[in-house]
Amino acid sequence: MAIIKAENASFSYSDGFKAIDNLNIEISSGEYIAVIGKNGSGKSTFARLLNGLITPTNGSIIVDGIDTKDKKSLQRVRKTVGVVFQNPDNQLVASIVEDDIAFGAENIGVKREEIEKRVEFALSAVNMTEFRKRSSSRLSGGQKQRVAIAGVLALMPEVLVLDESTSMLDPKGREEVIAVTEKLNKEKGMTIITVTHYMDEIIRADRVIVLDSGKVVMQGTPKEIFSKREELERFNLAVPLSTKMAQKLYDSGVAITENIINKEQLAEALCKLMQRG
Ligand code: ADP
Repeated sequence: MAIIKAENASFSYSDGFKAIDNLNIEISSGEYIAVIGKNGSGKSTFARLLNGLITPTNGSIIVDGIDTKDKKSLQRVRKTVGVVFQNPDNQLVASIVEDDIAFGAENIGVKREEIEKRVEFALSAVNMTEFRKRSSSRLSGGQKQRVAIAGVLALMPEVLVLDESTSMLDPKGREEVIAVTEKLNKEKGMTIITVTHYMDEIIRADRVIVLDSGKVVMQGTPKEIFSKREELERFNLAVPLSTKMAQKLYDSGVAITENIINKEQLAEALCKLMQRG
């Protein structure tokens, strides 16, 4: 079932600039989606449309059957789609981790007992249980971002949107956050929509959506997308180095047949070739 539908959705900023241009997309419950595109392609605008932070200037965004323009249902839309943003420091509001996680749920009037259960669940989902009494300001970037995710999880969303949420993190922090999203997707069936400019992050997605000038210009599995190197380059996106190397080898006659999308796969394919001698 489609949990999110964009129907001829466009969005223009007040200066008239059209950042999203007649978008038609359906996202099913339980999908892991990566949205990529060069700077200014409309990714962030798209993320903000998904939970009604902004509404389309034309067309509609339908979340679990509700039009985000329907002001009476905005709270339901925000409960269904939780967004985690780029800068972890801007998202933490309380000084102690567990209070921070509870904050959003308290704001929407969830009862105390229920909040305790949700905080417990959210802490464990992001592997931060042992940090519950710690001061938020003393956490690493990756830990802060995991607390921000936990705060969104305490609202029990069905869809988690990450808007460049790993871009300010070091590689370890990035890996921690990605691992949490994979676990939520696989174990809890949560729909994940990650907006990213890291090509190596998109290999975990079921489906990749490429935006350019606010339009969907490519769509497919990571393998399908990476196999179209020239098309990607037209949109100023580069394929991972391992993919490029495998394609170069293939072009020069080496029998590498698989679409390679990471260095582990490249190493494996090369080992196989060497064994065949
Ligand atoms: P991305 O996330 O892919 O970098 P954005 O969605 O942030 O793209 O921006 C898409 C386009 O909309 C860009 O050209 C940007 O300059 C423009 N834009 C973003 N925010 C505003 C704004 N508040 N007012 C006017 N134009 C904006």
